[in-house]
Amino acid sequence: MADTMECMCQECGISSYFQVTDLSYDEPGPGGRRLVQNLFCPQCGGQLFVVGRAGDEPTYRTG
Ligand SMILES: [Zn+2]
Repeated sequence: MADTMECMCQECGISSYFQVTDLSYDEPGPGGRRLVQNLFCPQCGGQLFVVGRAGDEPTYRTG
């Protein structure tokens, strides 16, 4: 079973969930965001970035 990844829109901020096998994304750049290359926001068509695996605690909440 493929992992589900949570992705967030940089434009409108909604979260969307995609199968990891459907996603193509960059290595983390400045700020640590992994930008999705092949899919876009279903609401506004904006740039998505990967938040993490669905259900995981967001990394920015740790520590
Ligand atoms: Zn959007």
